[in-house]
Amino acid sequence: MNFLLVLLFSFIIILFPLLTYLFFVAYNKNIDSKLNKFYFGLALITIYYLQIKYLQINYDSSVIIITFIPLLIAIIKDDKISISILMIIQILTLYIIYKYNIYSLLILHLIIIIISLVRKNKLFPVIYFSIISIFLFIELRYNILLLIFNYLAINILYLFIDIFLKKGDKIINYHMSLKEIEQEKQIQQSLFKIAHEIKNPLAVCKGYFDMLDLNNKKHIEKYIPVIKEEIEHSLLILQDFLSITKIKVEKDIMDINMLVEEVNDNFKPLFKNKKIHNNIKLIDDEVYINGDYNRLKQVLINIVKNSIEALNKENSKINIMTMKNNKYFQIIVEDNGVGMDEEVIKHFSEPFYTTKQNGTGLGITLSKEILKEHNATITYKSEKMIGTKVLINIPLN
Ligand code: ADP
Ligand code: MG
Repeated sequence: MNFLLVLLFSFIIILFPLLTYLFFVAYNKNIDSKLNKFYFGLALITIYYLQIKYLQINYDSSVIIITFIPLLIAIIKDDKISISILMIIQILTLYIIYKYNIYSLLILHLIIIIISLVRKNKLFPVIYFSIISIFLFIELRYNILLLIFNYLAINILYLFIDIFLKKGDKIINYHMSLKEIEQEKQIQQSLFKIAHEIKNPLAVCKGYFDMLDLNNKKHIEKYIPVIKEEIEHSLLILQDFLSITKIKVEKDIMDINMLVEEVNDNFKPLFKNKKIHNNIKLIDDEVYINGDYNRLKQVLINIVKNSIEALNKENSKINIMTMKNNKYFQIIVEDNGVGMDEEVIKHFSEPFYTTKQNGTGLGITLSKEILKEHNATITYKSEKMIGTKVLINIPLN
């Protein structure tokens, strides 16, 4: 094949895997940088394979210089794994198929490794192709004029590839940052909500302060408790929010069945005070899991608190039960409170969603995060005016 034709064909062979890679990464939203690198390396090795297979290069042809392009790209991207793999494949093909001298091949690749120290230099591709041209000249004793022509042509070809690669980088970066923006947006939204949630109580406080006449004893008796309550509410929101953003579980071997009993015991005085019937049925066995005792306790307290807050009738009940099968430890908290209608069920697990006057809407969000850290799941069954049943499944290790 004519060198220029080969060059054109080669350009297509190089672009095809790179384009496939680009589309794949850009449209696949779940690729992290490690996978990204892997696919890029795969594209480079594919290019090398296609070149050897379809360019019909004769063993004595200086066109072989084109097959050094994937290695050049890997060096410029500083992808050490691809560099090593490409070098090994390259040495083997040139030695086995093209019968090049193995020692000169090893020396050439050693020199490439050494000069790759200056890969950040703009002239690096030129230096790289010069070294390979000199090698080919010595190895093949090729017509020097033709070699120089090829040398110039390959440099121009690489200029185009370089432009393409830079554009590709831009596209990849754009898609990666889109993903980050998405996460950032969520954080911003919650900050916005936080600001909003705290602004309300503060505005109420300010309103009362404006009306407050310090010489009027009635004012003080009436307004100060309200102000105190609003401040307490703001603190509660901040506290819940902080525990969500600061989630750090410290796991240890712990008895989860005992934890349920302990939480129930802690609530007993409150149950008694509010005339709530409390049934507790625990398996009579110790069940050890690898978990964060304090965090899991927080989850259970959140759930029982929600149940207590849902109760409003005479014959109020909260049943707590634990069960075990060979895969999961299960905790069930059941109440016969107000329950949830469809609208509430749709939203209750969203951050800041609350139907309570003094709620923060963060309890369930926080609990879900903690349970996620334990690979545990939580499911709600609720019916308006009948009650709510919460089921937690904690995998046994
Ligand atoms: P908060 O308790 O501050 O409102 P949560 O995240 O704990 O926030 O709960 C969100 C909402 O889910 C509650 O406001 C309530 O509407 C609903 N909910 C949770 N648990 C129950 C329950 N046991 N019975 C009825 N509604 C519940
Ligand atoms: Mg709650």
